[in-house]
Amino acid sequence: MAFIYCKKCGEYRYLTPHAFWNITGYGAKCEKCETINTVTLENGALKKTIVVSK
Ligand SMILES: [Zn+2]
Repeated sequence: MAFIYCKKCGEYRYLTPHAFWNITGYGAKCEKCETINTVTLENGALKKTIVVSK
């Protein structure tokens, strides 16, 4: 299980790793504050999270 967390409000959100194998720049919108958190996964492991403000 991989998870990201919103760097703006701290809300956690789970991702299903097998659905996101080796992705770059996946935009996961925080359901709480609607900030776009851009995440990069490599072999299902979270590499980094970048917050993109609206
Ligand atoms: Zn948020």
